[in-house]
Amino acid sequence: MVTDANRKTNEATAAAEASAVAERIQSLAMYKPGKSVEQAQRELGLGSFIKLASNENVLGPSPLAVDAIRRSTAEMHLYPDPDAFNLSSALSRRLELPREAILPGNGSDELIHLLGVTLLEPGDEVIAGTPSFARYQAAAVLNRAAFHAVDLLPDGRYDVPAMARRVTARTRLVFIANPNNPTGRHIDSDEMEQLLAVMPPRALLILDEAYGEYAAEAPGFPDSRAWIRRGAGVVALRTFSKAYGLAGLRVGYALGPPTVLSWLRRVREPFSVSLPAQSGAIAALEDVEHLRRTLEMNRRGKQIVVQLLAALGLECPPSSANFVWFDCGESADEVARRLLQRGVIVRSGAHFGAPQHLRVTIGEESHMQVFGAALAAALAAGRGAGAL
Ligand code: PMP
Repeated sequence: MVTDANRKTNEATAAAEASAVAERIQSLAMYKPGKSVEQAQRELGLGSFIKLASNENVLGPSPLAVDAIRRSTAEMHLYPDPDAFNLSSALSRRLELPREAILPGNGSDELIHLLGVTLLEPGDEVIAGTPSFARYQAAAVLNRAAFHAVDLLPDGRYDVPAMARRVTARTRLVFIANPNNPTGRHIDSDEMEQLLAVMPPRALLILDEAYGEYAAEAPGFPDSRAWIRRGAGVVALRTFSKAYGLAGLRVGYALGPPTVLSWLRRVREPFSVSLPAQSGAIAALEDVEHLRRTLEMNRRGKQIVVQLLAALGLECPPSSANFVWFDCGESADEVARRLLQRGVIVRSGAHFGAPQHLRVTIGEESHMQVFGAALAAALAAGRGAGAL
């Protein structure tokens, strides 16, 4: 039981602890992940849920990756290869880039963090869009750099001219999630060139391609390797967490100028990519069929969700990723809560500053049908409550 006296002591302790923490850290927002099925079951009592809240692959990992991870356990008494030589070599062959232009990391999260720690000086400037992925701001704040968030256009695309106008001689990093999380829109080659044309010589354009596999066929989606091959100031970040279905394994990689990556290599924790992560990622890369099935499922699931939303009178803007982002016409927190009661976990846009938007991960046809029925019921429940 929490008594008043206890609460006062806790508050006093929290205040004392906060004062011991650097001021810039106190301004950091806590990263809020999508609710897990386990958490939903804890909060609502046991039951079955489908999770469409964190852009994971509902098909799960490649069985080849699972086998490789299992086999790697026999060598768990050994440290992993700090250079991830075999993984880097496999990526090098697949992507037709030299091994020095590739740096594996503990998810793209680690690589975003490393870019900040390695490249930013106090007073430097970091530019990103808003709403977008929260960790770009953290990379700036942690390293005493100024963070400039430029509003997206109303249709969810990046306002590239506005971002270009924000660039100054102090700009060091420009983060573009391509395609963007949460809006699913991408920038094209011309827009990339517009940004590169105004960036000072030391600045880097960071293309976070966490959802790049899904976008590869979208009209005008730039192949960042072309810029990296010709030595442009571009770093691309990719991950095994999304299309490869290995979010729990924690492995991603950066592609970029070898000199920049060599500095990141010095700063990184030497063993941040575990042995199972290295082995699983190599096997996942070889399972071309699993990736093909995933992309096919996504294409089909997206078509279905667009139809389901249209039937409910909701417009679904185009998305190049494995999620959709749309205005649900009322409080997204409230609709997300009603969906949760109906066994479907989605992400409310309130967290991204868009209080009427929902972000819904694409799954198989059956998932999308369950989601469509739950959304219809959730919206009807809202109208029923309004009529009372
Ligand atoms: N970038 C974007 C745009 C993301 O959406 C995510 C995952 N939510 C990440 C990076 C982090 O991915 P990883 O699992 O590779 O750290």
